[in-house]
Amino acid sequence: MSDTADGQIIIFSSPSGAGKTTLVKLLEKKENFFVSVSHTTRKPRSNEVEGKDYYFVDSNQFNELIQKNEFLEYAKVFNNLYGTLKKPVFEKLKKGENILFDIDWQGAKIIKSQNIKYQIFSFFVLPPSKEILFERLSNRDMKDKLIVSERMKDFYNDVKHWVDYDYVVINDDLNKCFREIMEAITNFIKSKSIIKQDINKIKKHVDKLLS
Ligand code: ADP
Ligand code: 5GP
Repeated sequence: MSDTADGQIIIFSSPSGAGKTTLVKLLEKKENFFVSVSHTTRKPRSNEVEGKDYYFVDSNQFNELIQKNEFLEYAKVFNNLYGTLKKPVFEKLKKGENILFDIDWQGAKIIKSQNIKYQIFSFFVLPPSKEILFERLSNRDMKDKLIVSERMKDFYNDVKHWVDYDYVVINDDLNKCFREIMEAITNFIKSKSIIKQDINKIKKHVDKLLS
């Protein structure tokens, strides 16, 4: 059983480009929220900082961490490996710090399946439309059209996983979306309950995204 003084696990997943990293970075500015920094074999983007955005490693280093059983979860995403180390996460949760995870649906599934004693609240972030998602990915990964098309290809599979999450947001206006997330988290921490959502509205939005 989780202790009242323990921190919470707060997971964010989405199709690539929907805005979860942006939202997690805004949340990190709030008191007592910390981002779990993952390890990845992906090459750094020009604005990414080692140890802040990711720990960038090669596949030998990543495989060594797998062998040593250091990962809480790891997964292959877009042909690269991504993983979360157990130790820093549990140290922080024990101290009462809330940990934000920016991970894909596979990693979220692994964490949820582990019977962890800490409470988990999971968000799925949807884009307003496929066109806007494409625009956001193209702006972010400007130099690499291949990356954009690779990520758009996975969109249809990724988006279907919204059903496995506690709370779904549509990231249209960033500030509005951030306020909705803050409200849901504050409510969860205070009352351990999840604000009820209009599931039909979300389903309709997803159907439109998939059409
Ligand atoms: P993800 O982590 O889900 O792949 P990012 O957070 O990297 O997505 O966002 C993808 C791009 O879209 C970034 O360039 C980011 O600045 C931009 N972005 C995120 N949210 C919004 C928003 N609500 N409105 C406009 N642009 C956004
Ligand atoms: P990006 O390359 O855009 O930073 O991330 C690609 C995908 O990998 C995103 O869905 C992101 O959430 C996911 N990801 C990042 N870190 C981890 C991690 O530690 N574990 C898992 N399973 N996915 C991760």
